[in-house]
Amino acid sequence: MARIVMKFGGTSMAGTERIRRVARIVQRQQAAGHEVAVVVSAMAGETDRLVTFCREADALYDPAEYDVVVAAGEQITSGLLAMHLQAIGAKARSWLGWQLPIHTDDAHAKARIENIESDALLASMASGEIAVIPGFQGLTADNRVTTLGRGGSDTSAVAVAAAIGADRCDIYTDVDGVYTTDPRIVAKARKLSHVTYEEMLELASVGSKVLQTRSVSLAMKEGVRVQVLSSFIDDDAPAADTIPGTMIVSDEELAKIQEDLEMERQLITGIAADKNEAKITLTRIADRPGAVAAIFSPLAAANINVDMIIQNIAKDKGETDVTFTVPGADLARTQALLEGQKEAIGYFRMISDSKVAKISVVGVGMKSHAGVASTMFRSLADRGINIQAISTSEIKVSVLIDEDETELAVRVLHTAYGLDAQDEAA
Ligand code: ADP
Ligand code: ASP
Ligand code: MG
Repeated sequence: MARIVMKFGGTSMAGTERIRRVARIVQRQQAAGHEVAVVVSAMAGETDRLVTFCREADALYDPAEYDVVVAAGEQITSGLLAMHLQAIGAKARSWLGWQLPIHTDDAHAKARIENIESDALLASMASGEIAVIPGFQGLTADNRVTTLGRGGSDTSAVAVAAAIGADRCDIYTDVDGVYTTDPRIVAKARKLSHVTYEEMLELASVGSKVLQTRSVSLAMKEGVRVQVLSSFIDDDAPAADTIPGTMIVSDEELAKIQEDLEMERQLITGIAADKNEAKITLTRIADRPGAVAAIFSPLAAANINVDMIIQNIAKDKGETDVTFTVPGADLARTQALLEGQKEAIGYFRMISDSKVAKISVVGVGMKSHAGVASTMFRSLADRGINIQAISTSEIKVSVLIDEDETELAVRVLHTAYGLDAQDEAA
């Protein structure tokens, strides 16, 4: 017997027929002798709808009330799944975030889970009941509802798995695993049987929304075994233990698997695109100590995450241009802040552009290989794609390009690094 957390995303929970199918998948796991907790998302599109209502109520809405509104989508699906499970003869009940509770900090709309009280949950599971938990929700120390940031149900699932010491956390979604790139953009994307935590973390953080970034860092920290697999399976599909989804594994585990299969490690594991970035350039800043700090300190104080930064070579006049990116959703706030600091920073002009995309290639293989970045630059140049900014980490190279060229860039790089599905067969 194993203890398993099963998480179902928005597309899997969208409507009666799909929830009914989810109920059957869950019941089958329990019938196989496992203790099961289920974490669910709101129906696809529902959270967006609720966010729109908040924006319509007040452009500068109260984040605490936003959380009350957007947490509602998951409340509905958790109750519905419990009903569907009961309808097919399973014992099931819902446990809302505040009922367990799932304790978080008070950073509304992007709260972090601090701990989960699991005694009641474990007792219920041990009695043969299926626990259904709405993802995305938490509770502050002073009893206010929080949410964990968009895509946060993945993090709820991993946190529940860690709290109850689950043997596995299965993330059921609308694709059957993690691919070399978004299979909805590149038809030749290839499914990966295994990805390391480190690579998945990097891929998620640069735009592969198949898993929320925090869910991966939490799984890595807590050693939770995470598997990504499809919920769009027939009733006679094999059990999750044997379904070929994608397993997130440690570096050592992957090295061992590859050694056993005599497989060579790919240089690049995956490619991700992120259109939610905006670029800002401040021109003619004084080339002196403290100038850059004057730009970024107020942004940090306002919790705005700056990603790529380039400072151009100083001109003769002792002036320099600084270009950087921020999340598109924070662009207006960033502009307002920098406008207010114009005197203090001493720039000439602020130019912004939200029609940009960040394309990233990720792979642990690049730790020990040179030439990954130059292949990227050459392949993009050959197709006339201009690079506006570059950033790198030990296992990633990212470039900023015109948003209209996103799909082309991803496809070109996918081919350039030999990731296309047909390459493998060849
Ligand atoms: P859920 O509602 O189940 O949480 P999401 O929409 O959040 O699902 O995540 C699944 C989606 O992630 C897929 O439909 C796919 O378009 C996208 N995706 C992006 N990059 C990848 C990738 N490398 N592999 C698989 N899916 C990806
Ligand atoms: N429903 C939330 C969202 O759409 C959380 C999730 O689905 O993971 O962001
Ligand atoms: Mg998701």
